[in-house]
Amino acid sequence: MLKIENLNVYYGVIHALKDISIEVQEGEIISLIGANGAGKSSTLRAISSLAEVKSGTITYKGEDITKKKAELIPSMGLVQVPEGRKIFANLTVFENLELGAFTRKDKENLKGDYEMVFQKFPILRERQKQKAGTLSGGEQQMLAIGRALMSRPSMLLLDEPSMGLAPLIVQKIFDTIVEINKSGTTILLVEQNANMALSISNRAYILETGKIVKSGDAKELMNDPAVKAAYLGE
Ligand code: ATP
Repeated sequence: MLKIENLNVYYGVIHALKDISIEVQEGEIISLIGANGAGKSSTLRAISSLAEVKSGTITYKGEDITKKKAELIPSMGLVQVPEGRKIFANLTVFENLELGAFTRKDKENLKGDYEMVFQKFPILRERQKQKAGTLSGGEQQMLAIGRALMSRPSMLLLDEPSMGLAPLIVQKIFDTIVEINKSGTTILLVEQNANMALSISNRAYILETGKIVKSGDAKELMNDPAVKAAYLGE
C-alpha cells in the first residue's frame, strides 16, 4: 500500500534520512521506533510532503507521491496525525471534528461518522462544545485521532501518540488504534514507547541516526536481546 525506496532527506547540511526503505501492506500496523532525533518524524513528514525529499521515491496505492503537493495527499486517504496533536485550540471539539471532514464529498454520511468518533472516545461527546485548548493532553490526542478519522482515511500516520501521556491513557489510545486498524485502516505508527508500539504491530523498523538498523516481525524484535537492551528498558 505504501512503499518508500531509498529515501534521503536533508535539512541544510544535516542528513536526516539516509537511504530509508519501508513497506506497509494493506491492513498492517507497522511501527517505526527509535530515540529522539533518529528521523521518525522526518519520515512521516516526507510521506506527507511536509519535508523535502532529496532522492528516493514514495509510492502510495501504486501512485508516485514523492513530489505531490502536501494539500492533495489527505484526499487520497493518507492522513497524518502530527506530533504534539496540533488541534485548533480556539475552536470547539465539534468544530475540530468538522474540519477533519473538510475534504469529504459525501457530506450526507457525516452524522454517522461523528457517532463513530464519539463511540470510540465518549469523552469527546461530553466535551463537544468546549474549546479544544481546554482539553487535557490525552483528550487532545483523542481529538487529533478523531479529527483524522472524520476524513475516513485508508491509512493513518500517527506521530508519537503516547507522548507526554499517563500510562492508563496511553493504553486507551493504543486499544483504539488496534480497533481502528481492525475496522480496516492501515497504520504507520511512530513511537519512542517501543514496548507499546511493538505489542500492537505486525512488523517494525528501528531507526538510528537516520538509518534503518533493523526490521522484522514485531514479536521477534521484542525478543531480540539487542533491541531489548537498547529500546525495551531490559
Ligand atoms: P523526535 O522524537 O525528537 O521528534 P525523530 O526521530 O522524530 O525525533 P526527527 O524529528 O525526524 O527525529 O529529526 C531527525 C534529525 O533531523 C534530527 O537530527 C533533527 O535535529 C533534525 N531536524 C528535524 N527537523 C529539522 C528542521 N526543520 N531543521 C533542521 N534540522 C531538523
